[in-house]
Amino acid sequence: MSLDAPAQPKGPLLPLPLRVEAVRQETKDTWTLTLERPAGYSFAPGQFDMLYAFGIGEVPISHSGDPADASLIHTIRAVGAVTRALCALQPGDTLGLRGPFGRPWPLEQARGRHALFVGGGIGLAPLRPAILAALADPVAYPRVTVLSGSRTPADRLYPAELASWGEGRGEVHETVDAASEEWRGNVGVVTTLLPFVDLSGPTTAFLCGPEIMMRFTANALIGRGVAPEDVFVSMERNMQCAVATCGHCQLAGSFVCKDGPVYGYPEVDRLMLVREL
Ligand SMILES: Cc1cc2nc3c(=O)[nH]c(=O)nc-3n(C[C@H](O)[C@H](O)[C@H](O)COP(=O)(O)OP(=O)(O)OC[C@H]3O[C@@H](n4cnc5c(N)ncnc54)[C@H](O)[C@@H]3O)c2cc1C
Repeated sequence: MSLDAPAQPKGPLLPLPLRVEAVRQETKDTWTLTLERPAGYSFAPGQFDMLYAFGIGEVPISHSGDPADASLIHTIRAVGAVTRALCALQPGDTLGLRGPFGRPWPLEQARGRHALFVGGGIGLAPLRPAILAALADPVAYPRVTVLSGSRTPADRLYPAELASWGEGRGEVHETVDAASEEWRGNVGVVTTLLPFVDLSGPTTAFLCGPEIMMRFTANALIGRGVAPEDVFVSMERNMQCAVATCGHCQLAGSFVCKDGPVYGYPEVDRLMLVREL
């Protein structure tokens, strides 16, 4: 297949070869890939693609770019064989893509309300398209707050962008689990940022990060008066087919690839307590 004329995806199980346009290292273990965008491809914030490192394997990776961007953007943390291979790609290399899949962030539920985004580590990446959409529409999203937690200052994702959101109309608070000598910000888990946030008005919260972080954050928000049905989480369970057939991502009666990855907190709060489910 010629890469000069991007082909249309031929089915949900067939990866489409796409050229890597650019690669940017974000932190010691995280890279952002810019991919050529297939003609007619569109996605909503919160959706993901299956990215295929040829000969190695395929993994789900959320969109981290703006849906209006000319290219597709994915931010990937290298944790195993496939993600390491994807992060080692260079401009001009080719990968395979299937997608987009999954239920997006229900951003419309935050219209006219306080939109609160809470990311832990790489969890900020799947939130980024929704944050950009909310910041771009002050009429629909009059108040936007971003809370971001990282392991160390060196692990902070998109630090320049966080600063620009905070200097613009966003309210941004950051924390790290372990500080460096130069770090003058907050130290502690992401829930330690919640006391800085005024939650007195109607708030819709979007959470993405390790399940334990999302559970503690959701419960803290509910304790501060946010309604459970106004809290949304993204469940990043292992998956393979992404079309609700193989069952790898089954979460009780639902398939994370199709019914998720975004769920209302009341849909999954009890399931999050079950280890290895
Ligand atoms: C819907 C969805 C969206 C995702 N979006 C992103 C993203 O935007 N950026 C990103 O870097 N990662 C994302 N992930 C996680 C990514 O898919 C996994 O890191 C990847 O599958 C690991 O594959 P591997 O072969 O590199 O490592 P493996 O060898 O398969 O795993 C390495 C380690 O990571 C753990 N692991 C594997 N898969 C997952 C998972 N889904 N959740 C938690 N731990 C896992 C394994 O248990 C093991 O400890 C997403 C996952 C899902 C389900």
